[in-house]
Amino acid sequence: MGFLRRVSKKVIPFWMGQKLRGAYQKSLGLYYRGNQYYCPFCGYSFSKMLEDGFDLPVIIEKEIIGSGRRENCTCPRCFSKDRDRLIYLYLENKTQVFFEPNKILHIAPEAWLKEMFRKLPNIDYTCGVKEVEGMGYYYDRMTRELDITNLEMKDNLYDIVICNHVLEHIYDDDIAMSEIYRVLKPGGWAILQVPISPIIEESIEDQDVISKKGREKHFGQFDHVRIYGQDYFKRLQKVGFETQRLHPVKDNWNIANLKKYALNNKEELFIATKPL
Ligand SMILES: [Zn+2]
Repeated sequence: MGFLRRVSKKVIPFWMGQKLRGAYQKSLGLYYRGNQYYCPFCGYSFSKMLEDGFDLPVIIEKEIIGSGRRENCTCPRCFSKDRDRLIYLYLENKTQVFFEPNKILHIAPEAWLKEMFRKLPNIDYTCGVKEVEGMGYYYDRMTRELDITNLEMKDNLYDIVICNHVLEHIYDDDIAMSEIYRVLKPGGWAILQVPISPIIEESIEDQDVISKKGREKHFGQFDHVRIYGQDYFKRLQKVGFETQRLHPVKDNWNIANLKKYALNNKEELFIATKPL
């Protein structure tokens, strides 16, 4: 945990830290209000979304989708990102998640997605992350400690698992994939987004690269342990998943005024299904 976070968590009570965070987000949302873009999580419209990410050389060289600097990426009001809004649009337009009973496990939960699931009476919702204590005011008290490579849940429990930009942080991603597969019911499915290079076949990983600078140089972020290539889907299939790559335009999701959601046009949605 960073020094400032550590000190502020000692000085500022948890509830006050969350309130301060909320007040900051509200004022940003007001500043950027407008009609150009719309966030389906918080329901507000904005003149622009916030920029996010850094263009490190390896991100540009490998054309990594889901990393790097993106304009109009982050909602000024709730901080949802382009990739989260893609998930929302998929759930809303291509599934019955908002209506049918579903048991959901959400790993390293995005706050806005978590709030949405918690409010849905048809959803039985669990979320968790490793080292929850180290995350400042980002996670609330319902987020439990979970190790994705050693889940405590029994087999065949969940209808849906959501694990958005997590696997690129995990050395033993094959074990994490197997664990997600194990806790899903047959017929259940997972959204497993990762940053990915469309131009490399084999993922790049090297467990000797452990420094922050080294990981930035080789993997595009200080806490990533690989760059996924097109073998990502083979890795998922190896543990038993059937995989799909979906795109709102190419797969014709028929969403009116898609541009207002400020998606990353190159980003696909990765769905991994445990066969019946
Ligand atoms: Zn928002």
